[in-house]
Amino acid sequence: MPIERTFAIIKPDAVAAGNAGQILAMIETAGFKILAMRKHQLSRAEAEGFYAVHKGKGFFAELVDFMTEGPVVLLALERENAIAKWREVMGATNPDKAEAGTVRKLYGTNIGRNASHGSDAPETAAFELSWFFRGSEMI
Ligand code: GDP
Repeated sequence: MPIERTFAIIKPDAVAAGNAGQILAMIETAGFKILAMRKHQLSRAEAEGFYAVHKGKGFFAELVDFMTEGPVVLLALERENAIAKWREVMGATNPDKAEAGTVRKLYGTNIGRNASHGSDAPETAAFELSWFFRGSEMI
């Protein structure tokens, strides 16, 4: 399995609830190296650009409202098979359908307010990492 990078967000619901530390512990326990990490308040323009692929969907405005309601933690993560592995640790998009012990099962509320984000493919990981981090910040 190749060493790979992925992009993660601890979303505003999880940060506000004080669950960021628990989620970071899960990330390290799962064998990820944290290459970069920054607390950040997304602007509407940033959230709209980041989620441009969902523009036009019924939940887009709700998604942008949610992602901008408070600070997030942005993360660049590295390990073998990082993209699939982080999505496994996060669990299904809808916390009701997520496996026991996953981030979204433990800390998500519903399909919108689901505690975390993870890239879904190498191309999206590269785009999302570069959206928020300079190459020199990932160490
Ligand atoms: P992900 O890759 O598992 O995050 O899922 P998607 O790419 O399908 O959706 C991106 C994000 O949009 C999700 O993590 C949710 O926060 C949000 N989202 C997806 N579907 C819905 C929905 O039906 N309603 C609402 N309110 N938000 C949604």
